[in-house]
Amino acid sequence: MTTTRTSALAIREHCRLLKLPGVGREYESLAREARERGWSHEDFLLEALCAEIRSRESSVVRHRLYEARFPELKTLDTFDFHADVGIDRDTMLRLARCEWVEQSGTVILAGPVGTGKTHLAIALGVEACRRRRRVLFTRAADLVRDLLEARDQRQLGRMHKRLLKQDLLVVDELGFVPFDRAGGEVLFNVLSERYERRATLVTSNLAFSEWPRVFGNDEKLAAALLDRLAHHAEVLTTKGSSYRMRKRGKPAATPPPGPPLQGATPPSGPAPGAHTTTVE
Ligand code: ADP
Ligand code: MG
Repeated sequence: MTTTRTSALAIREHCRLLKLPGVGREYESLAREARERGWSHEDFLLEALCAEIRSRESSVVRHRLYEARFPELKTLDTFDFHADVGIDRDTMLRLARCEWVEQSGTVILAGPVGTGKTHLAIALGVEACRRRRRVLFTRAADLVRDLLEARDQRQLGRMHKRLLKQDLLVVDELGFVPFDRAGGEVLFNVLSERYERRATLVTSNLAFSEWPRVFGNDEKLAAALLDRLAHHAEVLTTKGSSYRMRKRGKPAATPPPGPPLQGATPPSGPAPGAHTTTVE
């Protein structure tokens, strides 16, 4: 007994030193199973190594989820596809396989406020993390603020490099806050740099025709960006009134006339070249 307890302590300590947490956690139950089922030594070793691989994979996923900075965790399981929000379940399940992320594609989720755009954007980001992809979730306004700060500190190049390391950049709420020309430009540069190199997901409550206002009223900049994004983009349009308001049984309140970009304006349709079914 003493020997067994001593070896258990030594095994745990060796696993700690060798950074084998999966083996450390599972070897005892595996050893029990091995005795009960008469596994060979090789089989036991194989199972212990598999336990370590599983443990490492799940810790990478945890790390990816942490680094992605999702404001909250949302998944496709909790999305109500019967709510008639204009989003097709099969399309989302296909996107959840993340082939578009591998192909450096672009997804644009557009539609009125409260119709699940952020929920779906996070859910797709989570799926990419589960596939051990690097994801960063950011609101457009925060990204622009960080980019302008980086520019002022002459760190813009470094920030671009950091952003390019992300397999998927989720830019939420494009259009909620309009930027000045400088803000529009720094965002434009990030988004166009990712074009065909890394995947991007943008959510927006704006019609494409309203994008120039986000980009400091620079029609040319917005047109160039739309042209690039739309070329490879899969555009999904949510519709209807706010899901939460509907759940409470009330119609969504009409937004008060306010600053031009804050209404829940449904997009007027895909940008030229955009399509809703396939990722090129
Ligand atoms: P949007 O980004 O379009 O403004 P959100 O994704 O923030 O909308 O949705 C607002 C809230 O309603 C969130 O808590 C979200 O989880 C929930 N929600 C929206 N649509 C659905 C849906 N179809 N099924 C389940 N929850 C939903
Ligand atoms: Mg949102």
